[in-house]
Amino acid sequence: MNTNLQTPIDYLKGVGPNRADLLRKELGIHTYQDLINLFPNRYIDRTQYYKINQLQQNSAEVQIIGQITSLKEVAQKRGKRLVATFQDDTGTMEFVWFRGHKWIRDSIKLNTTYVAFGKINWFNGKFSIPHPELELVAEHEKNLRSAMQAVYPSTEKLSNKGITNRVIIKIMQQVFLETKGKFTETLSKNLIEEQKLLSKSEALFNVHFPKSQSLLARAQFRLKFEELFYIQLQLILKNLIHKSKIKGFPFTKVGDHFNTFFKEHLPFELTNAQKRVIKEIRQDLGSNAQMNRLLQGDVGSGKTIVALMSMLIAIDNGFQACLMAPTEILSVQHYNNLNEQCKKLNISIKLLTGSTKASDRRKIHESLENGELNILIGTHALLEDKVKFKNLGLAIIDEQHRFGVAQRSKLWKKNTSPPHILVMTATPIPRTLAMSVYGDLDISVIDELPPGRKDIKTVHRFDKNRLQVFGFIRDEIKKGRQVYIVYPLIQESSAMDYKDLMDGYESISRDFPMPNYQISIVHGKMKATDKDYEMQRFAKGETQIMVATTVIEVGVNVPNASVMIIESAERFGLSQLHQLRGRVGRGAEQSYCILMTGYKLSNDSRARLETMVRTNDGFEIAEVDLKLRGPGDIMGTQQSGVLNLKIADIVKDKDILQQARFYAKRVLNSDPTLTLSENKSILNTYKLLSKYKNIWNYIS
Ligand code: ADP
Ligand code: MG
Repeated sequence: MNTNLQTPIDYLKGVGPNRADLLRKELGIHTYQDLINLFPNRYIDRTQYYKINQLQQNSAEVQIIGQITSLKEVAQKRGKRLVATFQDDTGTMEFVWFRGHKWIRDSIKLNTTYVAFGKINWFNGKFSIPHPELELVAEHEKNLRSAMQAVYPSTEKLSNKGITNRVIIKIMQQVFLETKGKFTETLSKNLIEEQKLLSKSEALFNVHFPKSQSLLARAQFRLKFEELFYIQLQLILKNLIHKSKIKGFPFTKVGDHFNTFFKEHLPFELTNAQKRVIKEIRQDLGSNAQMNRLLQGDVGSGKTIVALMSMLIAIDNGFQACLMAPTEILSVQHYNNLNEQCKKLNISIKLLTGSTKASDRRKIHESLENGELNILIGTHALLEDKVKFKNLGLAIIDEQHRFGVAQRSKLWKKNTSPPHILVMTATPIPRTLAMSVYGDLDISVIDELPPGRKDIKTVHRFDKNRLQVFGFIRDEIKKGRQVYIVYPLIQESSAMDYKDLMDGYESISRDFPMPNYQISIVHGKMKATDKDYEMQRFAKGETQIMVATTVIEVGVNVPNASVMIIESAERFGLSQLHQLRGRVGRGAEQSYCILMTGYKLSNDSRARLETMVRTNDGFEIAEVDLKLRGPGDIMGTQQSGVLNLKIADIVKDKDILQQARFYAKRVLNSDPTLTLSENKSILNTYKLLSKYKNIWNYIS
């Protein structure tokens, strides 16, 4: 039959229906193409031979040349084991079999030279290999097709059913045989020449059957580059199509509100980063396309004012604006903060949350629809169908990682024509990750803190030092400062967490008794109004200590608070710790963060604590976080598809990713529709990838 790469795997010689079924279920291999894209996890260097006296207790898989001098069966608890003594000119070791004794006894030739291969064990003061692969030296030399032997991903089921690595190698050889190892080139000639890439066929051959270390490296580079190139190509194309197809409201004026605010009411001088970002946003808003921009800025970098000034541009052009935040506390705070500025400018602004009274709600709906209301701030409540705008021109989402893509698109539909969208996040995302996950958005970064900010001094203390820590709190309060004490999140299910918080609260109340000290407590089980009341007391300085769970994590701003104590700090993730720490250091005073833990710490927790103590830089922390947790965990399942790469690794292949993005941009810049003949192979591949849904796995 005429095979092509979409031929079902069942047709491959040596596969058959049972194996095909297993390959489909266990490895998702349906076609020849899928098999070829099953890339090895690692390689074993089969040109390396060990001597027995060179073995280390950690030598993983080794290859040794020697002879079996004796075979005996040894009784053990259950059944017997077959033990062979194996020797070379430097020493002796053992091979052990727990099954298949008869077959081994029959087939092994004593005192004949074998190449043995397997994983080294150290047991009873002796090295041994359980179930080694044995090959007569003569055979071995004949079979040595390539020096580096691929080790493929596998599953327990596959190895139990006899689909060993050897079998996979066999069928991989078969697929190369049937296709003659000729694969259609997927990149353009220009790209290949300029970057001195291996051809597609050479790369695929060498990734499965490397002829040498250096060819393997080049093969891997080429395939990683290609994988990342097509993802970037798609993201950038999506962005371009978006810009050309979806017309935004052109905000051509920078009008009275913006100018008045800028000239008369700006509470401080903008940082250069803020100025740059506002300029980027203004450009987007003034163009004909709909803005879709992500604004990244560390906690305290001053994103709120950027949001306000963007909304002023919308209002100056006759449009409404909204700002959505993930929690009630945060939206209240935004509202209070922005309301103050809006008063000066004669702009109407309202707050809408789950706890807004029905009568107020009605009024808000009404004034939104008749256009009297300029700005609406709120929580998810903004997304409700009843909330209709007269002419929403700009929607801002604060703290993006709490909201999903679905919610972003819900905001879109609030208008006949989609509003401009600005997504703000305080969780710095490493550049490479941002490029892959948000590659279809435009990205602005505030990479500079307002002047005069001092680094927050961060220390790690053990629970045993609590008395000292309390002494420190007392001193700070005496100086007029305020203190946060944060406990791990209360989940509905976790009675333990709640107990920890309450025990902590009680003990703090004993050490900091009324009337000298006033303590607030805020946690997830409280009613929104009670939370708000307590937050307000703390914000006004009526209480000195705020005992809380992570509900205060996001965005809360009390500049007089200078100490953040995080209890059971080992239980928090890095970005959460960084967010929490960002609650202090907002005023002029030196601020402190104290990470409390017990003595028992995992390596990862220790790395997190050390990172926090070492640096205040959110982007650096994000990089460490990415290394510790991997991209899937950071972005959540929602975007994990983007990171489901076959060969490239977002953390390790950063440089390749940047190159891939650079070239994808360059190709599309000169040929946005990929119609030039030199880009034919790129267009074809792109179409094919879309057709067989290979890329779409990456993108929601
Ligand atoms: P975030 O980026 O975390 O949302 P905010 O917008 O809440 O940060 O700003 C943090 C604090 O810094 C606020 O008190 C704000 O008034 C202040 N701030 C913002 N920009 C500047 C600036 N350019 N100069 C001085 N203070 C600033
Ligand atoms: Mg903020």
